[in-house]
Amino acid sequence: MSRIPAIYLHKGREKSVLRRHPWVFSGAIRRVETQPQPGALVDVRSHDGTWLARGLWSPESEIRVRLLSWDETEEIDEGFWRARLERAIAGRAELATSGHSSAYRLVHAESDGIPGLIVDRYGDWLVLQALAIGIEIRKGMLARLLDGLLRPRGIYERSDEDVRLKEGLRLVNGPLLGEEPPELIEVFENGHVFAVDVRRGHKTGFYLDQRENRALLGDILRLDRDARRKTVLNAFAYTCGFAVYALDGLAQRVINVDSSADVLDLGRHNLALNGLEVNEDDFVVGDVFRVLREYRDRGESFDIIVLDPPKFARNAAQIGSAARGYKDINLLAFKLLRPGGLLMTFSCSGVIGADLFQKIVFGALLDSGREAQVLRHLGAGPDHPVALTFPEGAYLKGLLCRVW
Ligand code: SAH
Repeated sequence: MSRIPAIYLHKGREKSVLRRHPWVFSGAIRRVETQPQPGALVDVRSHDGTWLARGLWSPESEIRVRLLSWDETEEIDEGFWRARLERAIAGRAELATSGHSSAYRLVHAESDGIPGLIVDRYGDWLVLQALAIGIEIRKGMLARLLDGLLRPRGIYERSDEDVRLKEGLRLVNGPLLGEEPPELIEVFENGHVFAVDVRRGHKTGFYLDQRENRALLGDILRLDRDARRKTVLNAFAYTCGFAVYALDGLAQRVINVDSSADVLDLGRHNLALNGLEVNEDDFVVGDVFRVLREYRDRGESFDIIVLDPPKFARNAAQIGSAARGYKDINLLAFKLLRPGGLLMTFSCSGVIGADLFQKIVFGALLDSGREAQVLRHLGAGPDHPVALTFPEGAYLKGLLCRVW
């Protein structure tokens, strides 16, 4: 272990490491002993040389070290990685054995103690994302370990998120181990079927993080005796996940709006897979900002609106413009809801916390002249855990509001 290169922090910068935050930023580093190889193990020491933690070196990224262990005697060997994967898999045992869903997140990076690694399960297939160089150089070994633990038919790699560029890595999209998955993988979720395109779909193919919120929408409608008279607007619909639950919950109509015609095509396919009627008028290819304005100008109204936009803010510098975007669509949604209607509104921007998001929605409400109550605070499901040491992991937040 003595051959692991050491990096020394500036005085006072050991605090976050002692609080077990998994990231060491470049600005915290005073000195690097011997230049470590990209992705190599490094020992993090305080300014006076005290050993603090061990992690993976990312020389190109502002997040210069991703920490793995705070125990000096712990060896980061294959057994370590296997144990971390086993722990993550064990954490999903309930989901796996309940039989409610064949698609869920198995490894949620930092929050599962494996910074930079995402692994999602889609039935017999795994999809892996390597988002840091320390994971990139170990992905073959990690894939082999996952293969041994889970025996999937194949592991497909979707390392094509832009954050890879910050690590000096190129984007990769292709098979990694075993068989190649089919064009569309059919998965089930709470009694519904979805076709997932793991090659071209967003993230690893499907918004697994919204599973519980889709189910909540389905439950709300199923418990509503008037469901058959209710119209839902599913804004930023992607492949119509919320729509399938709402229609199965007997909503009269769900209008899906998305700027991409391709995702709505797959959405139509998903409706059909679930035996639901596909009405062309219910699929609108367009910009949600523009479409909502048109609905407002035409005096349309809805009983339930789901707003699940893409990440508006990628970094702190974009918070202002993102906030204006969120306010804009929420203001329009408040205006479009019938009295007693429901707004299910989300933000997946990590840099916008739950408090700020609620303030933005509050601002939109004031401008709309309506009244609203928060019925529930929403977030990702338990297959997307948030380590208490890593609040940044709580990227998805949402509100269910009753609007008067
Ligand atoms: N609710 C979905 C996920 C939504 S992802 C689910 O549960 O599966 C966000 C979607 O918004 C993407 O499909 C993207 O194509 C779409 N999108 C992004 N910007 C948009 C815009 N300005 N207008 C309409 N759709 C947009």
